[in-house]
Amino acid sequence: MVKRQRIFITGRVQGVGFRPTIYRIARQLGLIGFVYNDTKGVTIEIQGENNKTAQFLSILEKDKPPMAEIKSCETIEIPAVRSEKEFVIKASKTRGEPISQVTADMAVCKDCLSEMKNKSDFRYRYPFINCTNCGPRYSIVKNIPYDRPNTTMSEFKMCGKCAAQYKNPADRRFHAQPVACADCGPNVWLTDNKGKTIQTDKAIAETAKMLRAGKIVAIKGVGGFHLATDALNEKAVKRLRLRKKRDYKPFALMTDSIEKIKQYAIVSEQAEQILKSPQSPIVLLPKKENSAIAPSVAEGVNTYGFMLCYAPLHFLLFAEGLDVLVMTSGNIADEPLICKNDKAIEKLGSVADAFLMHDRKIYRPVDDSIVHFVNDEPVLLRRARGYVPSPIFTEKKCQQEIFAAGSDLKNTFCFGKNNQFICSEHIGDLEDAEVYHHYIESIEHLRKLFEVEPKVVVCDLHPAYLSTQYALSMPSVKIIQVQHHWAHIASVLAEHNLKGPVIGIAADGTGYGTDGAIWGCECLIASLDTFKRFGHLTYYPLCGGDKASKEAVRPLLGLLKKTYGDNFRPKKFNWLFEKIEPDRNRLNIIIDQLEKQINTIETSSLGRVFDAVAAMLELGSFNHFEAQLPMALESIAGESIEERYDFGLIHNTGKPLQLDLGIMLKQIIDDIHKGAKNKIIAAKFHNCLAAALVEMAKCARESTKLDTVALSGGVFCNRYLTNRLIKLLKENDFTVLFNRDVPANDGGISLGQAAVAVARGL
Ligand SMILES: [Zn+2]
Ligand SMILES: [Zn+2]
Repeated sequence: MVKRQRIFITGRVQGVGFRPTIYRIARQLGLIGFVYNDTKGVTIEIQGENNKTAQFLSILEKDKPPMAEIKSCETIEIPAVRSEKEFVIKASKTRGEPISQVTADMAVCKDCLSEMKNKSDFRYRYPFINCTNCGPRYSIVKNIPYDRPNTTMSEFKMCGKCAAQYKNPADRRFHAQPVACADCGPNVWLTDNKGKTIQTDKAIAETAKMLRAGKIVAIKGVGGFHLATDALNEKAVKRLRLRKKRDYKPFALMTDSIEKIKQYAIVSEQAEQILKSPQSPIVLLPKKENSAIAPSVAEGVNTYGFMLCYAPLHFLLFAEGLDVLVMTSGNIADEPLICKNDKAIEKLGSVADAFLMHDRKIYRPVDDSIVHFVNDEPVLLRRARGYVPSPIFTEKKCQQEIFAAGSDLKNTFCFGKNNQFICSEHIGDLEDAEVYHHYIESIEHLRKLFEVEPKVVVCDLHPAYLSTQYALSMPSVKIIQVQHHWAHIASVLAEHNLKGPVIGIAADGTGYGTDGAIWGCECLIASLDTFKRFGHLTYYPLCGGDKASKEAVRPLLGLLKKTYGDNFRPKKFNWLFEKIEPDRNRLNIIIDQLEKQINTIETSSLGRVFDAVAAMLELGSFNHFEAQLPMALESIAGESIEERYDFGLIHNTGKPLQLDLGIMLKQIIDDIHKGAKNKIIAAKFHNCLAAALVEMAKCARESTKLDTVALSGGVFCNRYLTNRLIKLLKENDFTVLFNRDVPANDGGISLGQAAVAVARGL
């Protein structure tokens, strides 16, 4: 019996090769009908024998393109028609309210790789091979609709062979906008550090040769330049650190096979899947002991950040006999990632010995994403290439279009439109003038790309945040300001499509509180429309403004002053201070500042407590990059140590519950005095915090009867603490939620801000 069905599919189904797949399956089953993109997703009509139409969806589910994600699929029976002869792809019906047609950049696929290695293929060894299932997308798009003239590929005219594939609905390059070959597309060349072309017909082989000789080469990739050098060559790595002005932060590594990664790091099955995924992020993996990787690649941490080759160019390079490369973002210090050829020469000419260039322009610089594992689940630490601009869906529709400005550190921003949140890629720390400039430009570019006209603008409560000031300067919009830690918890709720209320535990460096103090370890009873501060870490004084988040001696002195009160005699701790701040004068100035409360604020920051403890254990006394000291402390914490320090909970009627870590501080000082091992002290410290946060959650449950806990904030990038806390909470019958799709650090703030605005019916 002949049947006709109309099928509506939503999800990530546009720009990922969905229509050609449908076309092939329909033809294969001898069905007639059509498919087209519309504002909500994809609409299909199929007509044929009953058993064939039934097979259609099960084959589609199995054979859907790697980047596609079906969110909903609705089928209705409709009367058969007689006028059709075959199955066709129809023009898109995207008038009205188009959703994002732009998808994320994808790692080169298996099929393209094998063509690239096939001598008889016309794209043999072509560094820019791609198809509908792989290649650049977001990084090359200037405007919508996502068609070739609106991408940076517009300057390359397709040759006959490429055009034939592009136009053929049965071809796997049907409407693959960046399609190209050596005859018609972009190419690579090598230059010296002044930008002068080095004459060679083997630019890639020559690059590999330089890298083997310990040189630094800037390599243009998908989302920007990388600075590459031999990761097994300590001298080369040190030279790169010096020239890039990046003294401490771990470098990312790249190689071309899982087997090679396994020589240096422990790769779980799950990690292997993520490494091989089309998103191809950097994955943090436990270091293997005595690995041959140069020590200065990743000092003070117990992980390596590895990624696999993802651009065809990377594979061609490694095929020239390379082992492991440092592949760090092409920029100086904390400036934005560089993606333009001339700018690269100007800025990186003093860092790189040579440049492997290409002429496919990158319109949007997109950094590599970073994934690690929490509770054995993959969690994003930096959301950029491969993940952006995939939307996060919300059940409650945005009544008006929203712009959320994010936080000043690890900034991302977010647009809310219809039932989607579109978060920007990692932008960086706005205090750098160039990053701030890039932030403003990016907002404007993405606003146009996603056709958003924000009527509601959401930002942080902090009056000194540049993101706040920018948001407040936007004309004729409704402004709402959302407390930092509430936004953290809201980001977890948004990801899980929940309204709350939940018990929210937010712990991080600093966030502006509703009382003007600097918060940083908060237990909130939070839903998307409101929150109450149930408890927090006891305030301690912190002096020195911006310096307070860098110099560990400042929080240490503040904590000691809080703990010992009027009995604080700095002289008694000279043995401790000598290791941390040998300059007695400086130390006295800080003590004096605290005494007289000059440039001193009250804070409940937990991140700074980590700094203080790390410094006491002589792991360093300065954060050269955010969370350097906390990361060092985490990585020395001994496994399978169950002991912990003590803490106090202070109940005061009418006031939030207070967590007091004074006892812990005294016990740590005792342990150091007694010569206890650092790995034991670090473990007992982490264990104490996990136990304390569970006790806070229990008090909150008793008072509210809620039993779901949401965790967020930069402190929960700490795997040791987070894994232990989740385990303890579960043992105490809590349901635990945490960030997975957006970072737990400030990179997730913009999503939380946007979600709060939607919940308010804005
Ligand atoms: Zn491909
Ligand atoms: Zn061509």
